[in-house]
Amino acid sequence: MFTFNNPTAVHFGAGVLQTIDTVLEEYGYQSYVVIASNSQVKNGIAELLKSLLPGQIKAVVSNIEENPTVGNVDDIINAAIEHDADALIAVGGGSTMDAAKAAAAAVVKNVDARTIIQDKNITEALPIIALPSTSGSASEVTPFSVISDKEQGIKTSINGKVLYPKIALVDPELTYTCPPAVTAISGIDVICHALDSIGSVNNNPISDGLAVTALKLAFDNLELAYNEGTNAEARSNMALASTTAGIGFSQTATSGSHAMSYYLTSEFGIPHAEACAFSLDQWILCNAKVDPRLDKVSVQLGFENTEALAKELNGLKKRLGLCMTFEELGIDRKHIPEIARRTMAAGNYKNNLAQLSEDEIIRMLETK
Ligand SMILES: [Zn+2]
Repeated sequence: MFTFNNPTAVHFGAGVLQTIDTVLEEYGYQSYVVIASNSQVKNGIAELLKSLLPGQIKAVVSNIEENPTVGNVDDIINAAIEHDADALIAVGGGSTMDAAKAAAAAVVKNVDARTIIQDKNITEALPIIALPSTSGSASEVTPFSVISDKEQGIKTSINGKVLYPKIALVDPELTYTCPPAVTAISGIDVICHALDSIGSVNNNPISDGLAVTALKLAFDNLELAYNEGTNAEARSNMALASTTAGIGFSQTATSGSHAMSYYLTSEFGIPHAEACAFSLDQWILCNAKVDPRLDKVSVQLGFENTEALAKELNGLKKRLGLCMTFEELGIDRKHIPEIARRTMAAGNYKNNLAQLSEDEIIRMLETK
């Protein structure tokens, strides 16, 4: 028995951004605050949106940090209140969309960022229109938002049905200017999301189908998008892979590789997806031992078994220039026991099919 419910309306395709006025017509919103990544501001997104939605863009908030902060969220809250925004338009990567989601909930409750990230009962939010400019986070189709409070040393994940963007306009053209290193890291996140979803105890046949579709697209197109940033077909297929994986893991949540990543990011500054990809090969091997679905998925993807899939995953990581060892990450091995402890303490560790002991996780990390 399972339930699948993802309420985001997805509009997909090269040039779909140009149809935003028609898409939004039926909702009757009159005033928007735009939250845009600095690279999108540089590319002229504010002017473009103002020309597509004349008189309706009341303010543009930017300077969102890679790990969005309570300060970023407060900036959005203030702008939304000042301009009495009917909805928020978020254009950027996961950080931009995550910051917009937290603010959308805070505005309705009339509270600040620090209060909303502690709120376990988020039941209302301003509508969000999400336009991803990277292919990876899939925040455009998920109910999750991760916000940092640097002063208090907290990184909190909030989630709630109302945080699903109302509309996702997924326009691969927005990703054409994404530099190779960002393409690589975002793209490997797609693979981590799909394999974490398959390795989640919440897996179901629909989420598995979405994950397999996303994995096929990503294995066939990520390197091409990395090497040829203007390859329209590769960019489109990666955007599709990201959103498809996102719809899947919006239901299952992530598992092992993400559980291990958080401490690597917060303590050592390793970028989110590079931290996830670091151990992904080992999580799928552990999960294959407890669930034959992993081998079936590997065969569906054209591999002999999960071991062959893990091998290809490592080959791909290497070709994309991602770190493979603790030495390459610049992390001393003395931290291995603490990394194992933090992995087990992460909320989504309990989602992982294989429940390893601390010693088993330590042994797994010692091979890196
Ligand atoms: Zn991720």
